[in-house]
Amino acid sequence: MAIGKLRIRNRLVMPAIGTMFGTEYGGITQRYIDFLVERARGGVGLIVTGNSCVDWPRGKVGGNPLRLDDDKFLAGFNELAEAVKLHGARLMTQLQFSGRLTNLVATEGIQPVAPSETPLSPGGERPRALTIQDIREIIEKFARAALLARKAGLDGIEVHGAHGYLPGQFLSPFTNRREDAYGGNGEGRARFCIELVGAIRSAVGSGFPIIYRMSADERMEGGLQLDESQWFASRLEEAGVDAFHVTAGIYETRNWMFPDMGMEKGCNVPLAEGIKKVVSVPVIAVGKITGPHMAEEILEQGQADLVAMARPLIADPDLPNKAKEGRVNEIRPCIYCNECIGRLYRNWRVRCTVNPYVGDEGKREAPFSAKKRRILVIGGGPGGMEVARVAAARGHKVTLCEKKDRLGGLLHLAGKPSFKADLRSLVDYYLRQISRTNITVKTKTRVTRGWLKNRRFDTIVVATGGIPLIPKFDNRSEKEILSVEKVLMGSSCTGKRVGVIGAGRVGCEVAEFLAEQGRKVILVEMLEEVAPDLHILGRERVLRQLEKLSVQVLTGVKVVEVNPKGLSVTDKRSQMGLIEVDSVVFAGGYGADEKTVQMLKGGGPEVFTIGDCKEPRSILDAITEGNRIGSLL
Ligand code: SF4
Repeated sequence: MAIGKLRIRNRLVMPAIGTMFGTEYGGITQRYIDFLVERARGGVGLIVTGNSCVDWPRGKVGGNPLRLDDDKFLAGFNELAEAVKLHGARLMTQLQFSGRLTNLVATEGIQPVAPSETPLSPGGERPRALTIQDIREIIEKFARAALLARKAGLDGIEVHGAHGYLPGQFLSPFTNRREDAYGGNGEGRARFCIELVGAIRSAVGSGFPIIYRMSADERMEGGLQLDESQWFASRLEEAGVDAFHVTAGIYETRNWMFPDMGMEKGCNVPLAEGIKKVVSVPVIAVGKITGPHMAEEILEQGQADLVAMARPLIADPDLPNKAKEGRVNEIRPCIYCNECIGRLYRNWRVRCTVNPYVGDEGKREAPFSAKKRRILVIGGGPGGMEVARVAAARGHKVTLCEKKDRLGGLLHLAGKPSFKADLRSLVDYYLRQISRTNITVKTKTRVTRGWLKNRRFDTIVVATGGIPLIPKFDNRSEKEILSVEKVLMGSSCTGKRVGVIGAGRVGCEVAEFLAEQGRKVILVEMLEEVAPDLHILGRERVLRQLEKLSVQVLTGVKVVEVNPKGLSVTDKRSQMGLIEVDSVVFAGGYGADEKTVQMLKGGGPEVFTIGDCKEPRSILDAITEGNRIGSLL
């Protein structure tokens, strides 16, 4: 495969993704080098670094982007390029200027600039409209950054014109309201990008590939759509673009930028196909392309020439090699939870729910243990399966006990709603992994003192999960207050109106699940906030769905009693009220499993607790702790 004259060993691309692994001032760190080298070693053809700011701090976004606006950053990029290329991958960097997407904190007090004074809605910083002089300066800065990339030994650059970054802001009728030569009709809106590509080409010369990343459909009213994007793409090809990387959405519609587990697989691929119809250079497709089989299909059907995967390569950097060697079943699947990206919005370093080594690439599977232990793991949820998997791989003799009839724990139930189906792939992955080891699996086994009496273990790891909390209000009705588990297992609610108590992540998801079945759901939350335990992308998704499904959300409302008519509640002003419902579901969360831990204390083997039985948290915490303990033993 080639982009321009650059040959690439396969058609798989790791697109730009933020990590927060750079320094505060845009420098490259060893942690970042290790992160990308791991992916290069895993067999990917082309890596595009996280975005590099061409004009620091005016064009910077939050979240520690990289920086390529000065010679002093060449050394870091050069070290990165050498390290990545040593493993056969190609390396490019993505050049960006944020425009209206940024804020005064990120720009260190400089007013953001954009084609027009259109703030990032809702309530974003109002940018200043760029003057012609500003436009010329910014184009020069892009060209200079591209030249620096070439000097640093990179294989090419990608212009970040997607997701509403500056070049995209010029193209979009939603963000470009100018009336001069850089606005108005398509010709005017395309002018900035065409001049930009021309300036980069003059700076870097021929033979240095330029990829243009575009949101071919901004997925919003008044935004850019495919037919106009096709016209822009053909103009940009004439200007010197060597490949197009086609995505969708802008910050206002960012669910299309990072399609999550509720969205359709490959939802943006038809856009790549649409661009491919009008250009003769290679086109890269991206967006919830879940694995090698799907990638292969896209290529075979001629929808794109290359396929980009960011999250699947975060989840498993060895995906390309495993696919090449026919070991597709061994690929650790991304579950599209968006925890990785959600963390960036909090200015936290990227981590992955299913891959505990992200950010710690040097610490892949710990070596064989010198001292072989007999280890009992109690609980076959994700944390228990991970500790068993790692401990067995290190040579320990592991017994994994699960009181239910199958491994997987709450993942089975959590994966029941159609919008969380991607979770099921994680259970399947662990079952395959465990079947390849000599772990003794005992399902339908409740570990008690009696069970332990004649068995000898050196170490016990308790991974029993959390215990559902008991409702703290009176139930004066005949009705059973259903738990979330019961609802997901199929216990049906009676009547049409269902009250769900507790609007954390679990409560919101069960409300969505019930509303999808046609129930009228009233979600009652004592606190003011809905789903505070979700990252911003997850919260946005859930709120969108609750609204779409007409779920009534009541915050700051406390349930004091369940009676035959429904829920007696009080609000912040202690006003009493009645919410009439036919069924009640309690989604009050989980508590630690202290009983099991107490039962095991007092002499005998050493005991570790991990995951929700210690303190209810996320799948990420359970798997990470399982991995850490498995690596320590
Ligand atoms: Fe995929 Fe979730 Fe890992 Fe991100 S955190 S790579 S979405 S599994």
